Amino acid sequence: MSTKSNETELPEGFKDIRCIICPTGCLVHVEKINGELIIEGHSCKRGEEYAREEFVAPKRILTTTMQVESGFLPLVPVRSDTPIPKDRLEETLKEIAKVKTKAPIKMGDILIEKVLGLEINIIASRDLIESK
Ligand code: SF4
Repeated sequence: MSTKSNETELPEGFKDIRCIICPTGCLVHVEKINGELIIEGHSCKRGEEYAREEFVAPKRILTTTMQVESGFLPLVPVRSDTPIPKDRLEETLKEIAKVKTKAPIKMGDILIEKVLGLEINIIASRDLIESK
């Protein structure tokens, strides 16, 4: 399958991207040629969209830890509840490092709401009881 699209603000060059949407794992080639995005090697629309996003504005679920006050452990594993633009990951990590939350914590608790003003929350990945 091959797709062409005309988009502004496209990055230069090309990327070969392994689609991770399903176990087939198609290798998708994305390249900007004469201002147009050429996408080849995908087998379905979802793969095309994944490859386009990976080329134009890649995002990742962020996982890290956050300091805890009065917890059974000093740190709790946390993650973003939706993918974060890759170019904001470092800034987000620094923001999380500034915060100290308090036990008890339940898995899924929102520990930072709308981090960096984005529509993304940082949530707890596990329960953490208080220290005795
Ligand atoms: S392009 Fe489609 S078929 Fe291929 S790995 Fe991605 S989701 Fe699966």
